[in-house]
Amino acid sequence: MQQPRVLLGPNNTTTVCPICSASIRTAVKYTTTTRTHISAALCCMICFMGCIPYCSDSARNTDHYCPNCDSYIGTYEK
Ligand SMILES: [Zn+2]
Repeated sequence: MQQPRVLLGPNNTTTVCPICSASIRTAVKYTTTTRTHISAALCCMICFMGCIPYCSDSARNTDHYCPNCDSYIGTYEK
């Protein structure tokens, strides 16, 4: 049995949960990627402005969860 493909974006998405089949609006959590740490470290060394990458979410992935059954649905990667 194949799981339905869920289209995920950088923000909350209305979809049908593949686990509990409920019509839900996904809960999202942002995860900082390794890339963010590397660019922060580089910026830190070069100009002491390493906090800038942490202020934007350009280098973050978005993890989508079902608010109904709390299951992990998928990740949107930039
Ligand atoms: Zn669910």
